[in-house]
Amino acid sequence: MQNNTDFPLLFELSQTGRTGYSLPPLDVPETDTAEAFDSAYIRTEPAALPELSELQIIRHYTALSRRNYGVDSGFYPLGSCTMKYNPKINEDIIRMDGFSHIHPYQDPKTAQGALEVMFDLQEQLKEITGMHDVSLQPAAGAHGEWAGLMMIRALHEKNGETQRTKVIVPDTAHGTNPASATVAGFEAVTVKSNEQGLVDLDDLRRLVGEDTAALMLTNPNTLGLFEKDILEMAEIVHEAGGKLYYDGANLNAIMGYTRPGDMGFDVVHLNLHKTFTGPHGGGGPGSGPVGVSEELAAFLPKPVVRKLDGIVILDEDRPESIGRVKPYYGNFGINVRAYTYIRTMGPEGLKRVSEYAVLNANYMMRRLSEVFELPYTQHCKHEFVLSGRKQKKLGVRTLDIAKRLLDFGYHPPTIYFPLNVEEALMIEPTETEAKETLDSFIDTMLEIAKDAEENPEIVQEAPYTTIVSRMDETTAARKPILRYIPE
Ligand SMILES: *Cc1c(COP(=O)(O)O)cnc(C)c1O
Repeated sequence: MQNNTDFPLLFELSQTGRTGYSLPPLDVPETDTAEAFDSAYIRTEPAALPELSELQIIRHYTALSRRNYGVDSGFYPLGSCTMKYNPKINEDIIRMDGFSHIHPYQDPKTAQGALEVMFDLQEQLKEITGMHDVSLQPAAGAHGEWAGLMMIRALHEKNGETQRTKVIVPDTAHGTNPASATVAGFEAVTVKSNEQGLVDLDDLRRLVGEDTAALMLTNPNTLGLFEKDILEMAEIVHEAGGKLYYDGANLNAIMGYTRPGDMGFDVVHLNLHKTFTGPHGGGGPGSGPVGVSEELAAFLPKPVVRKLDGIVILDEDRPESIGRVKPYYGNFGINVRAYTYIRTMGPEGLKRVSEYAVLNANYMMRRLSEVFELPYTQHCKHEFVLSGRKQKKLGVRTLDIAKRLLDFGYHPPTIYFPLNVEEALMIEPTETEAKETLDSFIDTMLEIAKDAEENPEIVQEAPYTTIVSRMDETTAARKPILRYIPE
């Protein structure tokens, strides 16, 4: 298979016998691999890795990084994913020797500083979410969802309520919600949204019952709208014996104003890599701590970080715990970055984040709604959803608009999601962008809309300025190249 761009792959540059590293002489006793490992796990032939010099590798990745797009290169209004600025002080802090050179098998007595940070981060997250206890273990949002649902499952089992097999999820929910419910062994059931984009309470009442394990919800929901009837919803679910799960991947709209714990939620996960500025993309790295009410605290993943008489310990003595969900203690690097962020912002700063995130989103929503259809007209929270229905009638689809944005140097918003909005464009500006940036993006969107009316083919054929034009994304997803086989 030949890579058909002018950008050679490392495999194509490879020359047999070339190396880019040299190891220092062995200064520990040599171990016989055949003795140390089960033969089933020992490689019988060398891995098919490219052989290059260090300089070739550095140039390759430097060139790739120039083709990359990230928050540091431009506006990235990806709805639901909170691509906000990652403050560089986070990087200074995590690179401190005491954090970056620590070993997970080190005796906790010698790692008190790092453990203290974890303990204090748990405390901060308890305060931010209004939950009774928190575990930092899950490695991402979806992982936190799964861990949270496993705890709900454990609680129902302990109470002898094994008939609670259903998890109710709104039709606007993030795809990970029904997926996590399924992986945790539940059946995901969809509750409808009403004309205002909020959960339909009558449909919820119809769905809850003896078999309800939980309702999974995010508030503001995935349309960026606040579920104002949340207290009533909590009552409906709790009265039926179910639990409330809060998808806190995006806390950007509510920090300092309200808390999942105060809305009646029993379990919540947070995405520290979104709201709390962990750099993320391409699937990692993440951190998805889970917080729980007192009733569920015994089931938290173990070990939990505890402080006794001024000493921080890793408490393994947790008989009802769902067990360990991640090697070691979670994604420590992302946790330290989030901790740095929380401490540098302080409570007032986090509150301002919510204010600016909501203000920026509403400003953009109102200006863009002059040209794009706005399916839900009330004020939004940190994000909003437009419909490209009008443009579609002119032959320009939302996908075309997204591709055209690339020519102007913008990362497109989330598209075709949530599924209940036709030709959806889901925009989240975040709090960190200047008004001029928001205005330029809005102007670009208006220009594209004008082209859709006057010169639709310009939009339909875009992008023109990128290294590759339109890709066959379906084939890329369905038939990934798992291993490059050089000719
Ligand atoms: C991103 C996101 C998730 C999933 O988080 P991951 O860290 O990608 O697993 C879940 N729910 C919502 C609303 C999200 O935006």
